[in-house]
Amino acid sequence: MKRPLVTCPMCQKQAQLEEVLTAQSNQNVIYTCPSCHFTLRNIYTSKG
Ligand SMILES: [Zn+2]
Repeated sequence: MKRPLVTCPMCQKQAQLEEVLTAQSNQNVIYTCPSCHFTLRNIYTSKG
């Protein structure tokens, strides 16, 4: 299984998905860049 990479929109740093995403309660997912600490909340839209 190839692990997906996420690219930070701010600094273009790539990191593994599981390292930068934090699953919250209430089914929210928060993205946190390990390089510039940019955070993005609720990046997953409802699918299906
Ligand atoms: Zn970044």
